[in-house]
Amino acid sequence: MQPLFEAYSFIFGLLIGSFLNVVILRLPVGKNLVSDRSCCPKCQAKLRWYHNIPVVSFLMLRGKCAFCQSPISWRYPLIELLTGLVSLWLFPAELSSLSLGFYLFYFAIACVFICHFFIDLDHHLLLDKLNIYLLVLILPFAVLNFYWMHWLLGGLFGFGVPLLITWLFYKIKGQVGLGGGDIKLFGLLGLLLGPTGVFFTIFLSCMVGAIVGMTLILTKKLNKDRPMAFGPAIILVASFQIFLPQFAHIVESWFF
Ligand SMILES: [Zn+2]
Repeated sequence: MQPLFEAYSFIFGLLIGSFLNVVILRLPVGKNLVSDRSCCPKCQAKLRWYHNIPVVSFLMLRGKCAFCQSPISWRYPLIELLTGLVSLWLFPAELSSLSLGFYLFYFAIACVFICHFFIDLDHHLLLDKLNIYLLVLILPFAVLNFYWMHWLLGGLFGFGVPLLITWLFYKIKGQVGLGGGDIKLFGLLGLLLGPTGVFFTIFLSCMVGAIVGMTLILTKKLNKDRPMAFGPAIILVASFQIFLPQFAHIVESWFF
């Protein structure tokens, strides 16, 4: 039965990924997520149900709109496939109500991460709405964890340290370094990862951000008027810590 359940979890992930595409497109511009049927962004033709099958429709249509033939972004099938694979990766090897609960908890966090990642890339925004979803997910989990010093200190540290750095940066250079969304996200991650975990998130995401920023400057792909989005670096590092803890612990041990 296990392979069958795993196949279901992959298909479930693909379908949720299709919904995440809608969220990424519509949430930042305030459009309704469920009422309107999807349409082609070029010719505005309403899509039929068979144009909306995750990954399959993109391949069948050879990446082009069925009505106006304008190219469809490869990002849609990529996000669907990514969500499907994340669901499969997180699916428990042994089924119980507890393991399924953990699966749903971590999968929901992964879904918010995927939305944060791409919305921040497109709009330079880590939306409060998504941060509130994260808070609603993480806070009960953290409180049930009983080891309250862990999450309380983590939250204070995750929120306080980036806030302090931003304040100092502003005092010295007169520029705002980190956005409010970045600071809130660090605070939320602190609730989940604890003080040492979130210290690592802050440290490593700054390193990843610096490496990516430098690469973009060297390849002349960074627009000087529009600073680089920092959210994707935070999301990448936090995903590494949360979803691949066995590897993250190895990297953490290099530094501590
Ligand atoms: Zn079209």
